[in-house]
Amino acid sequence: SGPAADPLLDGLNPQQREAVEYRGPALLIVAGAGSGKTSVLTRRIASLLRAREAWPSQILAITFTNKAAQEMRERVEQLVGDSARGMWISTFHSACVRILRREAEQFGFTKAFTIYDSGDSRALIKRLVKEHEADALGLTPAAVQSKISKLKNELSDSDAYARTASHDDPAERVFIEIFRDYERQLRKANAFDFDDLIAQTVYLFRAFPQVADVYRKRFRHILVDEYQDTNHAQYALIHELTRPIQSSEDVGGGMLALMDEGEAASLTVVGDSDQSIYAFRGADIRNISEFERDFPGAKVVLLEQNYRSTQNILDAANAVISNNFDRKAKNLWTDAGRGERVVGYTGYSQHDEAQFVADEIEALHRAGAAYGDMAVFYRTNSQSRALEEILIRSAVPYKIMGGTKFYERAEIKDALAYLVAVANPADEMAVRRILNKPKRGIGAVTETGIAQFAADHDITFRDALANSAELGLGPKLQAAIAHLDAVLREASEIMLPASGEAAPPTSVTEGLQVLLNKSGYYDALRASRDPQDEARVENLDELVAVTREFARNNPEGTLLDFLTEVALVADSDDLDDASGSVSLMTLHTAKGLEFDHVFLTGVEEDLIPHRISAGEPGGPQEERRLFYVGITRARKRLYLSLAMTRAQFGEVSVAMPSRFLQEIPAELIDWRQSPGDVNGRGGTQSRALNARRPGGSDRWGAKPLPAGGGLKPKSTAMDRFPGLVTNKMRDNGDLELAAGDRIRHDDFGEGRVDAVTGEGAKRIAHVRFDSAGSKKLLIKVAPIVKL
Ligand code: ATP
Ligand code: MG
Repeated sequence: SGPAADPLLDGLNPQQREAVEYRGPALLIVAGAGSGKTSVLTRRIASLLRAREAWPSQILAITFTNKAAQEMRERVEQLVGDSARGMWISTFHSACVRILRREAEQFGFTKAFTIYDSGDSRALIKRLVKEHEADALGLTPAAVQSKISKLKNELSDSDAYARTASHDDPAERVFIEIFRDYERQLRKANAFDFDDLIAQTVYLFRAFPQVADVYRKRFRHILVDEYQDTNHAQYALIHELTRPIQSSEDVGGGMLALMDEGEAASLTVVGDSDQSIYAFRGADIRNISEFERDFPGAKVVLLEQNYRSTQNILDAANAVISNNFDRKAKNLWTDAGRGERVVGYTGYSQHDEAQFVADEIEALHRAGAAYGDMAVFYRTNSQSRALEEILIRSAVPYKIMGGTKFYERAEIKDALAYLVAVANPADEMAVRRILNKPKRGIGAVTETGIAQFAADHDITFRDALANSAELGLGPKLQAAIAHLDAVLREASEIMLPASGEAAPPTSVTEGLQVLLNKSGYYDALRASRDPQDEARVENLDELVAVTREFARNNPEGTLLDFLTEVALVADSDDLDDASGSVSLMTLHTAKGLEFDHVFLTGVEEDLIPHRISAGEPGGPQEERRLFYVGITRARKRLYLSLAMTRAQFGEVSVAMPSRFLQEIPAELIDWRQSPGDVNGRGGTQSRALNARRPGGSDRWGAKPLPAGGGLKPKSTAMDRFPGLVTNKMRDNGDLELAAGDRIRHDDFGEGRVDAVTGEGAKRIAHVRFDSAGSKKLLIKVAPIVKL
């Protein structure tokens, strides 16, 4: 580097520097985890701006989550100052919503369109499956939804699909009908589902080249992070935007037409095919491998130095991923030093595992680590519950990323449906949703009557409500509907002032309060004796707080802007800042993030690799990539933990260590004894335990043996991993327990046995503990004594 410090280039290695400074039509940066791909993309934007090679408004950068977009924007602003305003840094979905809001009128939608999240589309599909009696043909709503989604991601539609499908197959015929109806209903409701946002933008660009030209002229530099996880529709969108400009006529709208006919935007993509984890959503690694073919003359830069993790963590990651056979070998290295060994731990149950995680978190915290620098990952959302229970009890502050599903709660969906009914009255599903919420005595018969009235008069469902006097209903029902209509009108006057006037920033908050109060929604919850309803009121208060914050951040934000923001809250995004808490999330959500201390939990067969993926082509390889993503999030310390027994959906099963553990060289893992012996709990019984482990098989990935099977002291998975023991396990094979007995548990204290179920090695005690709540325990191995 030169003598004068340059904040843009300082500290970059030569390859990174080359990637920041390269100028040309197409640049592909391929590199392993933590090698600075995202950092380089960020600096590249800053470099373009600083050199005045681009106005901020000519930059379109695509990130995988809204949160990543926000971080990138902040970084660029740090590097070049406020001039960064006006850039589009967003997810594919957000960018497309912005385009569609401007252009929807071109093809028969209005800019007030609703965005259906996957729950909304599921509800609609469920109704259609029922109407078509498709269940009988084996078409479940879930299967129909995922097939439609897949087709949309391939830019297919019901017509295109119908041309290729087999019409002899009754299930296919009905599927096509449902797909058609689904498309019609969305259009009628002035709504797009999530996949439409991208597919319809591509459609718009292809059908209206002059519209596409507007954006081609605007975006001179397009940059895409996490390119390995783009699907075909996203790929096509990028292609449309990077085509040469067709006409040099003025684009109007005050946009600077600095580009001319025949010119094309420059494209930079970064990715790592080892981190492709969204094939199930149509992501296609070929988008990376074929980049050079698609963009002839593209420059390719490889990055090999990892700046995130220690060598031990990298070695573990490299060892695991090298078992995938269809990849190009990469050689990631670091000069950060060996660091700590990976810590392994096996609990006898998921509670024990969770306790270990909580204890370690506390120990790290006492040693000076901030909670915000720690993260706990799991494969499936349902695994978080056991972790949460223990973290709450240990008073560890934590935050679930992506999994709170705040916006999926019924009361929040109701409140949003009220807002949508105001913003987009054509959205029949939203209006129907609030029709009898709170209860107004409007039942299915009345609802059908209203729909019939609307159909007969060729008006919308919402308009039918405005004509309540003509619906032929009794006075009470008519009054209820007239009241709902009045409340919607009042809110609409607040939130959607006549054109020309601007709605005040507080209008969304005010409008929402009018809707919740005057509709009687709040009152109904407050009057309820259900303790859950108390929590619902709190959640609604939280939503009102969200609207206030929205108004603060967007002084000119409208109701539509608010609904857009809410609809796009994606996986790793959250309502508030998580900096003071441990982050809990699924492995999918963890992509692109980094933490000093990472706990990867539930490292068991059937969880990772997940049972469902095991049978799918490419499934186990994709699971391995997911595991690789998890490992490579860790900067300083990595913990891999598992449980020997896991209760899921009310059943306790014996878990097997994940095959991926075996792929990590043994010397990299420091298998810990359980914290139990520190506190004088348990004993040192590892040899005995090896022999007595329930189930057991020496084949990796083997299913647990049936009840009562296998306590044979033969070679087991446990023998291969001498560390895979926990001295909390007991041999309680002969322990006689019956309802009414009192017991003491090492962790949960004293409790009373409510019932004993199961047989032999799978006998389970249902225990109500005096202070730890109700638990199910596998009697065979639980650290309990009868009192
Ligand atoms: P992933 O594959 O997980 O998305 P990535 O390739 O995008 O990772 P970054 O997140 O950009 O990697 O970088 C990983 C870490 O390394 C970050 O903390 C970043 O600040 C740091 N880093 C990147 N390049 C350098 C460098 N030249 N010097 C020091 N630190 C760097
Ligand atoms: Mg990255």
